Amino acid sequence: MQSKAGAEDKKLQSFASAQAANRACPYALKCGGCDYSGLPYTVQLENKQKRMEELLGAILKKDGVTLSPIVGADNPFHYRNKVHSVFVSERKKTVQRGIYEKNSHRVIDIKECRIENEKANEIMEEIRRLIPSFKIQMYDEDRERGLLRHVLIRVASKGIMVILVTSTSMFPGKKNFVTALRRKFPEITTVVQNINNKRTSMVLGERNEVLYGPGFVVDDRLGLDFRISPDSFYQVNSEQTVKLYGLVLEVAGLTGRETVWDLYCGTGTIGMFMASHAKEVLGVELNKNAVTDAKNNARVNAITNIRFLAQDATDYMKQARGRGECPDVLCMDPPRSGSTKEFIEAAAALKIPRIVYVSCGPESLARDLICFQKRGYKIRRAVPVDMFPQTEHVETVCLLSQRKPDTTIEVDLDISELEVSSAETKA
Ligand code: SAH
Repeated sequence: MQSKAGAEDKKLQSFASAQAANRACPYALKCGGCDYSGLPYTVQLENKQKRMEELLGAILKKDGVTLSPIVGADNPFHYRNKVHSVFVSERKKTVQRGIYEKNSHRVIDIKECRIENEKANEIMEEIRRLIPSFKIQMYDEDRERGLLRHVLIRVASKGIMVILVTSTSMFPGKKNFVTALRRKFPEITTVVQNINNKRTSMVLGERNEVLYGPGFVVDDRLGLDFRISPDSFYQVNSEQTVKLYGLVLEVAGLTGRETVWDLYCGTGTIGMFMASHAKEVLGVELNKNAVTDAKNNARVNAITNIRFLAQDATDYMKQARGRGECPDVLCMDPPRSGSTKEFIEAAAALKIPRIVYVSCGPESLARDLICFQKRGYKIRRAVPVDMFPQTEHVETVCLLSQRKPDTTIEVDLDISELEVSSAETKA
């Protein structure tokens, strides 16, 4: 196995050669967002496959499973539908917009990002151009003065949302600013002012004021409409999301009779795709606004066999354990930090038959899979999906199911299963 330092050296070497060949993004080293910038896409996929094999290989081997080939993207550039720029001014003269330099609060002025949606990039540049004529002051973090802090753009299939993050609600000339912006980009369907007056690295504050349109955008995926609010979670790579959710549905193996729980459900997207293949679905999510969106999404799409709860996923699992309430299929899609030991213990105590684990954090996934294995679960499939080309991030879909109940020996001779592995066949 390659050491971490060795891998880092190799990454820098390949990066340097990509830069020399002028293929890498000029901002990449400072920005730190795209570790694979300049590497041919096929090489990026190979690297990700290798890394996941290093991380998960031994864990999967215990259950006689090998990692499936990574699902690559058709368009590895300009895929991000959510685009963020921090706005600052250089000695009160030029307007700079971009991202924070890696591990600092210095802003790298960016004119074009290779992974962000191109239309959103154009809108950001227009905002930069309009600012001086509207005399909008950029926010100065140190002195806590000025108005505009960030701009966030969310591009959906049925509209574009621009969110102007300001330090106070006082925004002189905002109506005219919105009019000027929409004159150039009529495809902007809504503009929201978000007020963030805290000294924080969080982009969004708690208050939103709708300046134009409905205050949300609608994205149409796999025949369903999803409403996205300024702060609700929505997968950033829409094209790959279609593949990801298709895979989740495939491994869940629904017949129409199952009760499904979609925990860490965000705006309820996965659960809603599952609803037409299941008896009923419950979605649980911590973010209240995302739950409001999820409920609206279900209503808009006339899905009646789904309900949502705003609650901590671990708390919900622990309470379900207390009630002895158990679904047929659990889909879990936790944030990068993964799930919790208590969550996994409750799932195991309930003996949930089938679990689909969608992960955006390889390390936390490895930790949680081991935890599941120790509590009687067997991994049946693990498929990496490249949701974030040019970066080193990897999404993974895993299917787990219960080992035979009350197994007393470690060797599992269950050859009647459909997905029997070669190791088991030999056994
Ligand atoms: N499955 C959704 C969202 C996945 S992202 C989709 O594909 O769109 C992870 C989600 O977990 C986020 O919406 C986040 O708000 C939520 N979350 C984070 N911590 C949580 C917790 N402790 N309990 C419940 N939800 C949580």
